[in-house]
Amino acid sequence: MNSQEKIIVIGSGIGGLVSGLILAKHGYHVQVLEKNHQIGGSLQVFSRDKKIFDTGVHYVGGLDKGENLYKIFKYLEIFDDLEMKRLDENAFDIVRLANGVSAKHGIGYDNFRAQLKRSFPDNEADVDRIADEIKLYCTYFPLYNIELESEINYVEHTEVLQVGAWEHLSTLTDNEDLVKAILGSGPLYAGLKGVTPFYVVALILNSFIKGSYRFVNGGSQIAKLLMKKIAENGGEVLRRKEVVAANYDDSGKVRSVICSDGSEFECDFVISNLHPKETIHLFGKEHFKTAYTNRVNALPNTIASFMIYLSLHENTLPYFNSNYYDYYTDNIWNEEFHFTEEWPQMTFTSAQVSKNTKEYAESISVMCYLDFNELKAWEDSVRTIVKEGSRQEEYEAFKKLCEERTLNRLEERFPGIRSKVKEIYSSTPITYRDYVSTPNGSMYGIQKDFNHTHKTQINTKTHVPNLFLTGQNIIFHGILGATIGALVTSFNFVDNKQVIEKIKMYD
Ligand SMILES: Cc1cc2nc3c(=O)[nH]c(=O)nc-3n(C[C@H](O)[C@H](O)[C@H](O)COP(=O)(O)OP(=O)(O)OC[C@H]3O[C@@H](n4cnc5c(N)ncnc54)[C@H](O)[C@@H]3O)c2cc1C
Repeated sequence: MNSQEKIIVIGSGIGGLVSGLILAKHGYHVQVLEKNHQIGGSLQVFSRDKKIFDTGVHYVGGLDKGENLYKIFKYLEIFDDLEMKRLDENAFDIVRLANGVSAKHGIGYDNFRAQLKRSFPDNEADVDRIADEIKLYCTYFPLYNIELESEINYVEHTEVLQVGAWEHLSTLTDNEDLVKAILGSGPLYAGLKGVTPFYVVALILNSFIKGSYRFVNGGSQIAKLLMKKIAENGGEVLRRKEVVAANYDDSGKVRSVICSDGSEFECDFVISNLHPKETIHLFGKEHFKTAYTNRVNALPNTIASFMIYLSLHENTLPYFNSNYYDYYTDNIWNEEFHFTEEWPQMTFTSAQVSKNTKEYAESISVMCYLDFNELKAWEDSVRTIVKEGSRQEEYEAFKKLCEERTLNRLEERFPGIRSKVKEIYSSTPITYRDYVSTPNGSMYGIQKDFNHTHKTQINTKTHVPNLFLTGQNIIFHGILGATIGALVTSFNFVDNKQVIEKIKMYD
């Protein structure tokens, strides 16, 4: 136990909260500083029309009994209090291509194969090959399987990092529609042809095959439960604390961090839950090696999104327990981000689940890709609950246009939806930039690229001896990815064997 040592965590995203909780459980005095009014980062929700809307997380995988996230959440003592709804066993995701081909992703490998074979009866062997390959790639990542070591692993077999998803799948089947059906849930990781590695697809798809769930009344319950556990372990999460600077001692260690309200927090260690680029900016680039700063600043980030949130008239749209990935172009996995006449070329549609949800959906969220550059004219404006700035009328008009275009697309795949909409709300890449502080509102931070595997790897240690990193840029993004990243961060402080042995107990 290290009850004397104080750790400041900057940011209350899932990565910051999980790192903070593990360390609080091990006797460190943990303070999490969050700039927003609401904790959770991309787990934040908002409420309109007496309905709760998720802003980021719509469903999470790996939560069936004995699976990776189930075990970690059990270890963190939050699993039993989570209110979740398991998605449709036979179709947690439904991919609908522009040519009318439709495919379902089922929970459990047997079901995953069976559902795909129904859509691709002439490619049964290919489906099996693809499913086997997804499983195989997951075995190379020990921590993902709650192990510290494994016989085969990506450290010794770096070649598994260098395989492109689209490219690899195209060697496993000649049927391009089958490739698209597998990669259709690409918005989960902002998949790009010629860039996204196959291991990213494998780790993410596998996690959803191993138990996909929605969160009743939103994902913010994860953040609230983690905050409660941090408090029970002697720590605290403070809101409206935007860290803006750091004080260093003569040895080059951070001694305290300063918030925008002038408050100062002393520390023995700091963990930053921010994007590495933001971390360098905040702590001063003179404290980092130039080569590191240049590399991090040059790394491309994943695309941003435009979201519409639809509050529905009562009892009009039957609740659907699946997510829909709809494509309006044959050219999927290319850069369909720009606001052309055809925008949006892809929509992700998910129904929100609340305690009252029975036969009918109360609200749905729709996500489209949108390049931040389309909002360049308004990039200098900032608006959050804490910073009440204003934006020009043109910005609101652009949002309205995007809402209309998205609704038109939705109408193509959910005929009659427009008449069921009571209220419509939306958020843009600028909203995400302001609320979560990812560069240009990027959804998932640094884009993994199989052509440059080393460049996109971010270590939890930095050149500042007592400053560490956590969050979606460490291992991979998503609730599962950032949680595993938080384990890695915590291993700088606690005995990794002990933690892993404890997590493994929850079968
Ligand atoms: C639109 C969208 C949809 C998504 N859908 C899913 C999904 O369905 N399933 C899934 O698993 N994942 C999904 N994700 C990804 C997932 O939400 C993220 O990968 C994950 O939540 C990121 O966690 P993080 O720990 O990196 O922190 P973040 O969530 O990025 O949080 C960082 C925190 O730091 C705070 N902060 C920033 N600067 C400061 C400062 N100077 N001082 C104090 N605090 C600061 C921010 O306010 C924020 O709270 C989605 C993301 C988006 C954007």
